[in-house]
Parts: sequence; C-alpha cells; structure tokens
Amino acid sequence: MGIPHRNMSMVPRVLFGAGSFSQLSAILEPKRQGVKAPFVFLVDDCFANYSDVVDQIPTSYEDRIVFVSSEEEPTTEQVDLLVQEIILQFNSIPSGIIGIGGGSVMDLAKAVSLLLTNSGSASDYQGWDLVQSPSVFHVGVPTISGTGAEVSRTTVLKGPVKKLGINSDYTTFDQVILDPNLTIGVPAVQRFYTGMDCFIHCIESLEGTFLNPFSRVHGEKAKSLCEAVFLPSQLSDSEKREYLMMASWLGGISIANSQVGIVHALSYGLSFVKNIRHGVGNCIVIEHLNNYYPKGLETFRRMRDFNEIELPTGICENLSENQWRQITSIALSLEPLWENALGKNWKSLIDEKEIRELYEKM
Ligand code: NAD
Ligand code: ZN
Repeated sequence: MGIPHRNMSMVPRVLFGAGSFSQLSAILEPKRQGVKAPFVFLVDDCFANYSDVVDQIPTSYEDRIVFVSSEEEPTTEQVDLLVQEIILQFNSIPSGIIGIGGGSVMDLAKAVSLLLTNSGSASDYQGWDLVQSPSVFHVGVPTISGTGAEVSRTTVLKGPVKKLGINSDYTTFDQVILDPNLTIGVPAVQRFYTGMDCFIHCIESLEGTFLNPFSRVHGEKAKSLCEAVFLPSQLSDSEKREYLMMASWLGGISIANSQVGIVHALSYGLSFVKNIRHGVGNCIVIEHLNNYYPKGLETFRRMRDFNEIELPTGICENLSENQWRQITSIALSLEPLWENALGKNWKSLIDEKEIRELYEKM
C-alpha cells in the first residue's frame, strides 16, 4: 500500500472582489442562531480609528467588536483568555467568530472558534488532528496578503513550550471574504514581508519531496503572481493588491497539500526564542539557505533589492546555552517540514550542530 492520498479540507465558500466586504451582513444574517447568540468580530486594532472598515462591520443585538493587537504573534494563553471572556460575557455559544486582520488575527479567530466547542486549553491541541469537535461557524477576512491563513487548515500559536499550529479539518474557515481594498493601507515594508511568506511557501512546496500535481499547479501560479507584484511590471496598484491576494490563497492551497520546509522550521525557532515575526523571520532565514533553495533565493534577492528592503542581521548573537537548546530543538521537532525538504532519511542529513551553525550566521 502506498501513502494514502490527502482528503483535504477546503473553505466551502469564498467571496472575492474589491468592495466585497460590504456583503458581510448578508452573509452573516442567515447564520445567526438567535438574538442571544452574538457574532464576535475580532478585528486588528490597526483599524480601531479607521472608520471606513469599522463602519462596515454589521453589528446588531449582542454582537461585539473586540480589537486585538497583532504586535505579538498569537499565543495559546491569549486564545484561552478570549474564550473565557466570551463564555463569561454571553449566556450562549456565539453564532460565529469573524477574524478581520492579517495572519495573526485570522489565526486567533480560528483558534477561538475551536476552543468554544472543545474543552481545555488551546495548547492541548497544538499538533496534528487532535481536535475532536467541530468549531463554531467562523469567517476569515484578510486585510494583508501572504500567509495563506485564510485558506489553511492550521492556526499557528505560540504555546508554553513551542510555536506550533492546531492542524485539523475543523480549523479551516467556513467562509472567507477576499476584498483587496482592505489591504490598501498596508505599509510597503510589511507588505513585502508578508508577501514573501507566500513566495517562500511556494518555494518550499515546489522544491519539496511531498510535491504532487495539485500542489504544483497552485504553487507555480502563486509564485508567478508574487514575482509580478514584487519585480518590475506594468501592473497598477489595484492589480497588485488583487494578484497578491490570489497568490496568498493559491500558495496556501499548495502547502496544504504538500508542506513547508527548512525556512519555516528555522523561522519558527526564531519567532519563539527571539520574538521575530513570521514574515521577517522567513526572509532572514532564506538568505542563508543557498545550499537548499538556490533558485528561490536568487529570485528572493532580486525582489528584496527591487523593493529596497534591508534585513536585520546579527539576531542570534548573545543567545544563552539554554536558548540555543530551545531554538534548535524547536526547529528539529518540526519533522514533517524536514521530511518534505530532505526526504525520508532527513535525520541522517541534518543535526543539531548544523542547525546551530545556520542560526549563527543569521
Ligand atoms: P500580522 O497579522 O501579524 O500583521 C502584520 C502587521 O500588519 C500588523 O502590525 C498589523 O496591524 C498590520 N496590518 C494588517 N492589515 C493591515 C492593513 N490593512 N493596513 C495597515 N496595517 C495592517 O501579519 P501576517 O504576516 O499576515 O501574519 C503573521 C502571522 O500569521 C504569524 O503569527 C504567523 O505565525 C501566522 N501564519 C499563519 C499561517 C496559517 O496558515 N495559519 C500561515 C503563515 C503564517
Ligand atoms: Zn509561512
């Protein structure tokens, strides 16, 4: 018997188009479970004073808007607290959780919707297929493009001992709204870092051993859209926003059916130990992986230079021995990522010492 093929969960409904966010109300109303069962809108606090977006959030009855900061990547503790607050505040399970923001806020929305129907802490479910019960109805509305969190079956959280996703079929959003206009205010540097997350998803998927035709076609298209956005082209700004939003979506589907690779394994360690944000961490890491992703790195560097991005250096100077142990063990624990990158016998091809040497160059 060969490896079983993956029966992939997908977002069942997706609305795409500039201005489509205004249709949120029509989407939500049929899903309301009664006047006492509110919709809870988790919204990136960068929109707190941005009435164009907030005014379009359709609240009625007991519905709540909760502004959340994405200054720090989401944690299991933050999810547990939000779930507790929602349970204490309302007498019934919400009709739905709507996440409006980037990967951080969308992941938070996914995790909260899961933990409202699954007991215990979010940290109990970090891993693969540990979730037992379907989540509350949840909607993802990206306001920055690249992570693919809008389409993936994972919610990546920092827990007490590791940064790891809750990977499950119940994690996937029930509805997504892709409105490129929501990304208009994203600062150029942030747009680059989050956009490169998508580009790197494609490189790791396309150059990995788990690659299959399904992942390949999505990954190739997403990669070429990223290149059109971040290299010289005739595209208008609004076309760039549309293309990058579609790239994020397709790149997310590509990795969902294959896997990410060494960039992500090392970037997760950086994020946990040095608090480096995901997109930035990926860019720092890929710079040092010439032995693994030479072609992808060459294109990355052209995009980096064209967009005048200066990457941080020297970030692993002064790590304590304890931090070295932590960072290398987090990276090595992400076994499927290494297996995708290096093949079944990856353990004979990389060890703690080589991982530390890579980090030392960053
Ligand atoms: P983010 O959500 O952390 O946001 C980055 C910054 O952009 C924040 O300061 C935010 O306030 C700002 N921002 C967002 N939208 C904006 C807008 N329209 N205008 C102005 N500013 C805006 O960034 P991200 O890169 O999208 O997400 C990173 C997170 O996603 C990490 O926690 C990472 O682990 C996670 N991630 C998840 C998946 C998944 O499949 N679930 C995949 C990759 C990454
Ligand atoms: Zn990523």
